[in-house]
Amino acid sequence: MQDHRKLGRDLELFHSDPLVGAGLPLWLPAGAAARRAVEDYLHALERRNGYQHVYSPPLAKQEMYLRSGHLPHFADDMFPPMALSEHDAFVLRPSLCPHHAAVFGARGRSYRELPLRIGEIGGQYRAERSGVLGGLSRVRAISLNDGHVFCAEEQVRDEVVEALRLMRVAHAALGFEPSSFRLSLRGEGGKYVDDPEMWAAASSVLREALDIAGVSYVEAPGEAAFYGPKIDVQLVDHAGRESTLATVQVDYFQPARFDLSYVDAGGARRRPVMVHRSVAGSMERLFAHLIEVHDGAFPAWFAPLQVAVLPVADAQAGGDFVRACRAADLRVEECHAGSLGARIRQAAARKVPFVAVVGEREAAGGSVSLRPRDPGALSGVLPIAAAVAGLSEVCAAP
Ligand SMILES: [Zn+2]
Repeated sequence: MQDHRKLGRDLELFHSDPLVGAGLPLWLPAGAAARRAVEDYLHALERRNGYQHVYSPPLAKQEMYLRSGHLPHFADDMFPPMALSEHDAFVLRPSLCPHHAAVFGARGRSYRELPLRIGEIGGQYRAERSGVLGGLSRVRAISLNDGHVFCAEEQVRDEVVEALRLMRVAHAALGFEPSSFRLSLRGEGGKYVDDPEMWAAASSVLREALDIAGVSYVEAPGEAAFYGPKIDVQLVDHAGRESTLATVQVDYFQPARFDLSYVDAGGARRRPVMVHRSVAGSMERLFAHLIEVHDGAFPAWFAPLQVAVLPVADAQAGGDFVRACRAADLRVEECHAGSLGARIRQAAARKVPFVAVVGEREAAGGSVSLRPRDPGALSGVLPIAAAVAGLSEVCAAP
């Protein structure tokens, strides 16, 4: 594995500007194209599995984080509040959970709506010291693939199992396997919510779900969230350092703090449980890993550039093919500068999945010659329509 920071520079995926600040990477067009494709895939996967998506602002009143418990338990990791006046202070959010709790609380809820699955890829912020920041793996502005399932007590276990299943699907599609699973439990000290029964119930439901899902795991006391235990999906980077990508957490605490309720079948008010889950983690840490694990050669469906078109003689013929690819929503670019050999080497260095050469013979016959990056992929001389249809198929998101 190569360091994602070097590959990120070479492939122009992201950039860190000292004037913007450490831990605040800019996604350059190539990195942004890949990220957009992955975000679209994650949204579609979640929609197919019963999620509804929302948008929520990346800051809120300080009061909200007093209520959620973040300020009492998590203030060291948060940016200081911004005061507009003596009674009006705002906080850059350390997590999306309180906003999603407010979505649930937007109106009365019935048991018929549960489990209610809310998803969002949204910003959250962490006041990391500058010494620990590097590339995309540790940042101050985090774009999290987040989701919260509001469910009845008796639905919690199945929802955790379902979250583990979704993770497996997503990780396979993105082309990696986690290095390990960790059950992160409460440790010593005052940073955890003090409710031993709640911790015991939440930990046992996570253990049951891991067993049902057939996942082997290690237990890690002292790694839980302040409000509850969690399953952490661990990765190892090029230097052998371990970090957490995805998580599932069971939370009985925040629904009570925000006084969330639903009406059950008998007409009684009941408290939902919140299952927090991220199937793919933050876009930053996910891409740090994807860049390393694929050595910059992303699968065609999220490659920044999918087809490099190299016209040899008749520029017009190259243009026709480019237009047809674009109409089919393929990411395509026409490359003119330099000899054919130099342009082929350039496309290889950029790890483009497909090169389409349009020579005189191809131009005359209305065809292109496809050369794939990966052995066994679509190749050979094909009529333009057949080439576009074939490329659309092999470049489609899973
Ligand atoms: Zn959450």
